[in-house]
Amino acid sequence: MFLNKEMLKNDFKRKLIVMFSEDIQEASPIHQYVAFSSLIKDYLSENQMKTNKKYAKDKVKQVYYFSMEFLIGKLLENNLINMNIRKIAEDGLKELGIDFNKLLQIEVDAGLGNGGLGRLAACFLDSMASLSLAGHGNGIRYKYGLFEQKIVEGYQVEVPDSWLRDGYVWETRKIDKSVLVKFGGDVSLIQENGKLKVIHKNYEPILAVPYDIPIAGFNNNTVNNLRLWSAEAVEKDFDFTSFSNGDYLKAVEYKYSVEAISQVLYPDDSNEKGKMLRLKQEYFFVSAGIQSIIRRYLKMGITLENLDKYVAIHINDTHPSIAVAEIMRVLVDEYEMEWKDAWKVTVNVCAYTNHTIMAEALEKWPIGMFKKLLPRIYMIIEEINRRFCIEIFEKYSGKWDKVNKMSIIQDGSVRMAHLAIVGSHSTNGVAKLHTKILKEKELNDFNGMYPERFNNKTNGITHRRWLMLANPKLCKLICDSIGEEWIYNPIKLKELEKYSKNSALQEKFYKVKRDNKIEFSNYVKENYDIKIDPDSIYDIQAKRLHEYKRQLLNVFNIINLYNELLENPNLDITPRTFIFSAKASPGYHIAKKIIKFINTVADKINNDSRILGKIKIIFMENYSVSLAEKIIPCANVSEQISTASKEASGTGNMKFMMNGAITLATLDGANVEIREVVGDDNIVIFGLSSEQVFNYYKNGGYFAKEIFNNDKRINKILSGMIDGSLNAPKAEFYDIYDKLLDYNDEYFILKDFDSYVKAQDRIDKLYKNKSIWQQMSIINIANSGVFSSDNTVKEYAKDIWNIKKAEII
Ligand SMILES: *Cc1c(COP(=O)(O)O)cnc(C)c1O
Repeated sequence: MFLNKEMLKNDFKRKLIVMFSEDIQEASPIHQYVAFSSLIKDYLSENQMKTNKKYAKDKVKQVYYFSMEFLIGKLLENNLINMNIRKIAEDGLKELGIDFNKLLQIEVDAGLGNGGLGRLAACFLDSMASLSLAGHGNGIRYKYGLFEQKIVEGYQVEVPDSWLRDGYVWETRKIDKSVLVKFGGDVSLIQENGKLKVIHKNYEPILAVPYDIPIAGFNNNTVNNLRLWSAEAVEKDFDFTSFSNGDYLKAVEYKYSVEAISQVLYPDDSNEKGKMLRLKQEYFFVSAGIQSIIRRYLKMGITLENLDKYVAIHINDTHPSIAVAEIMRVLVDEYEMEWKDAWKVTVNVCAYTNHTIMAEALEKWPIGMFKKLLPRIYMIIEEINRRFCIEIFEKYSGKWDKVNKMSIIQDGSVRMAHLAIVGSHSTNGVAKLHTKILKEKELNDFNGMYPERFNNKTNGITHRRWLMLANPKLCKLICDSIGEEWIYNPIKLKELEKYSKNSALQEKFYKVKRDNKIEFSNYVKENYDIKIDPDSIYDIQAKRLHEYKRQLLNVFNIINLYNELLENPNLDITPRTFIFSAKASPGYHIAKKIIKFINTVADKINNDSRILGKIKIIFMENYSVSLAEKIIPCANVSEQISTASKEASGTGNMKFMMNGAITLATLDGANVEIREVVGDDNIVIFGLSSEQVFNYYKNGGYFAKEIFNNDKRINKILSGMIDGSLNAPKAEFYDIYDKLLDYNDEYFILKDFDSYVKAQDRIDKLYKNKSIWQQMSIINIANSGVFSSDNTVKEYAKDIWNIKKAEII
């Protein structure tokens, strides 16, 4: 579609009149935003129709990415960039007297995810569309996304995220594509004409209504779809008798009980709760997605035996793994396929990504609850498991322990990860180290059973959002230096490397970073009334708050530095600004205490005039995609300091590196691969290796109290937590103290402390040499292209989904 600035301006004016009967002068900023975004969506709609027609006409194989979370953030600027009209939009709006950046700020983040997992799904959607691949999202339209975090007197306070309150311009309700999802009831099997027939009675029907969000590819006319399902009562959602009798609440009770399913995103990260509502959510969006996919392909005249040639379903983490059983149910019960044929199709259609080895994150459901909520699905899983156990028994003749270890139903629960592996042709980990651990430890038995199914796909991030959108100054400098080819093929960022020693260019990169830092310091001054020095090192740890991510290790180093400065005021250190941003799950007690601890330490250090502003600590509230876009471009140091083996991949690490920060890291997740590409000289590594960590877990030999007794620095830091020297009640941080000493420091914070302090010292020394630092920074940017999700998605397309480009002309 051809579009120039004048057309855009005219269309916009017209849209304001059509929507609000207003001209530019009358329209409020919010009306301007709504009308302008709706106009952009109109443009996308035309290309989406073309895209759909092409996919249908050529019977293109399509991927459906099933994910409980899609952390997509704001869409307006992203869409303008991908449509290649960002510049004319900004200029056009300016001519109409509208501040483009202010307009962009009006949009609310769609925060339908907790962290890395949900953001990965969003990056993959962007890459699939940009690579002209037919790939769509399938998820839940939560009425409330991840809570909004406020910090009040140092504590996290959660505020509901009512992102839909003022309407959401990017979605379209598709009432005619609704499907029924059935919960509970009684199932019986009867013989009919020599065939087994399933009768499901007394179930509770829930209407799943889809809302579609267009996903635009970069400069290629492709517009794919993100389909999010909303739960509604089927018909009788208003009890008129109760209403007439004056019981208003009872009248709407049923409606609310149904809508509860898509009411709110669970705010847990790396942690599962055996909650009935959660299982309901999972089955709800999976069943709705599968039913609507199968319905569409039947309409296209494709026989279900061939479904695997036209459809790939991706199971993003364990949450949607019930898809395996739901596909079987639809094929066997509704379309009377033979079990064996249906199973073959199901396994070929499904692929599974494992995101964590942490036991508490692998979903298990109590049999009783599962059976009651999903009686037919439970029967199907029993049958899948019966056949699978025979297969194990035949392969490992007589080894019952293998059966017990791998069985899907065991010890009173349904193990969902096992179902996903058994019912998929591919199981992948998300970084080399993580996949190795899966194969050798966590899923070793399954790897023995199905070695050909296991593979690695290291996570990635879209360079369009995380470089072009988030850091326009850096983007421009890169284009000025090496041209624009990297935008289409991010590996080409490598061209930058040959200039890494060029002092004129180093100076330009330094200037861009400094400008970003100044912009950020202004933001902090305005919002937090804290002055930070743009010439200090911006040292940033921004990610979910979790013990394994070890924000505490970071704080301990800061306290230690502070103690040293008090003892020796002339200590020659480069001033540092330590920036934290992290949400804690509302029920995660220790994580919330750590937030309070960071803020308490910040309060003390920021207000101590003796250290002459050499250290500043800022806790930015409400970490979200939009805040990440602000923080990451100004980072000098990227803190990726998880206990080795715990962070499956990480993607924050990639975003920071792409924006020129130096990674300070343990050899965990994708940090290992970042080191591989930039080389030892351009990353700072410290701490235990994953082998050492496993060894301690297995054989013991680590005693936190020993370190506490022998290391004066640790002794002072920990004692200071509970002796009242911080401006907080003495007991405030006792639980943290206790976990480190009485519970022997599960995440090896004290163990890695010395190594971390030394690594931080190396950072200080490296930063003092401006030329070396800039060289390192450029080398990091130059090698970040391999972490573009375009590369990751290409590998999924080739190795797992078996799909090819389908260009839209
Ligand atoms: C990238 C991202 C994450 C993931 O960060 P990690 O450091 O990999 O844990 C979490 N939240 C948001 C908002 C992100 O953009």
